[in-house]
Amino acid sequence: MSKPMGPIPPEFAAQQGMLRIGGQPADALIAEAGGTPLFVYDAAIAAARIARFRSAFGDSAGLHYAMKANPYRPFLNWIAKEVDGLDVASAGEMRAALAAGMNARHISFAGPGKRDAELQAGIEAGVTINLESEGEANRALSIAARLGICPRLAVRVNPDFEIKGSGMRMGGGAKPFGVDAARVPALVRRLIDAGADWRGFHIFAGSQALKAEALIEAQAASLALAADLAEQAGSAPPLVNLGGGFGISYMAGDTPLDVEAVAIALKENLNKQPQILANTEFIIELGRWLVGEAGVYLTRIVDRKNSHDKTFLIVDGGMHHQLAASGNFGQVVRRNYPVAVAARMGLDAEEEVSIVGCLCTPLDRLADDVMLPRADVGDIIVLFLAGAYGLSASPQAFLSHEPAREMLIGG
Ligand SMILES: *Cc1c(COP(=O)(O)O)cnc(C)c1O
Repeated sequence: MSKPMGPIPPEFAAQQGMLRIGGQPADALIAEAGGTPLFVYDAAIAAARIARFRSAFGDSAGLHYAMKANPYRPFLNWIAKEVDGLDVASAGEMRAALAAGMNARHISFAGPGKRDAELQAGIEAGVTINLESEGEANRALSIAARLGICPRLAVRVNPDFEIKGSGMRMGGGAKPFGVDAARVPALVRRLIDAGADWRGFHIFAGSQALKAEALIEAQAASLALAADLAEQAGSAPPLVNLGGGFGISYMAGDTPLDVEAVAIALKENLNKQPQILANTEFIIELGRWLVGEAGVYLTRIVDRKNSHDKTFLIVDGGMHHQLAASGNFGQVVRRNYPVAVAARMGLDAEEEVSIVGCLCTPLDRLADDVMLPRADVGDIIVLFLAGAYGLSASPQAFLSHEPAREMLIGG
């Protein structure tokens, strides 16, 4: 029995069967890049997502890019000019964000385990540090005092709720991220008393949500929480980062997120917000929804073999570049991402195959029992949805194969 795969994003057309990416034939792009395995990112697709966000949310919320989703420098440099800010989670990402030309005032630095040197670099650069604990707050304040700089500090809140695929789960519980909501007002008062430039709250309740109702509920709960914490702290937050969590359809049966419904509900909630948030600026931070569908991973068939009743297509890429497609990036159940034969797009599927990578481990499965047109050694397999948490989220050194190439088009 063949297994289903997720939907191919609608932007990918074909001409005479050959996949086109941003209007250019996949084989020509491979030749230009010098071979496979190759990631191609189409900035035009990310631009369309950004335009959709802007038209839905208007000026009710600013848009930040969470750069851990895809830190490929040319892509980052392009996106930095299209969004209102960048969210980074290490000093390395912060340097890349600054090098991309983003104003430090629009960079926020989250992430647990910031070293003293990272806090210092962030304070010196003037980015907003999203504090993950009271201990980190103490270290940031003493580093700032030593430097004689007034630090820009926000508090990441560990909320008592969490967005889940199927509605919001209450009771967020113990987390390494953020400060438990009950202890936040005292921390905010300390920061203000210490003379820091308190920037507000960061409330991130989850990731990869496809249900608008779940996001609407989470955003409403985040607004209420921000207002309550601000009242208790006795100070209005200049900024509230409402998190993100917008998901994309990876699997068969996934329904795309109704972003417009989320925007309408947020605007309604903002219209009746409590007085203490009247002058607050709101931010939504997105990674995967902006760039996930913009990338493809192209890999060439090296071998075609049969074992018992199965046909395997073995490719020159694998989970060392595109871990998520192998089902080993936090997925509970392995499901097939959309895949295709790049030169036979739109043709009828003829055979059931499994696509495996070139790593000597049974984990390296890129597609299981999928129906595809006939493909042979030398043909190119395309894996879609490779624009977020692809190369930078994969164990590239595992097995010491050649690195993948990356390319930005349409930027
Ligand atoms: C990873 C991360 C994001 C981005 O999540 P996506 O699912 O890619 O949109 C946003 N905010 C924070 C704090 C994160 O850690």
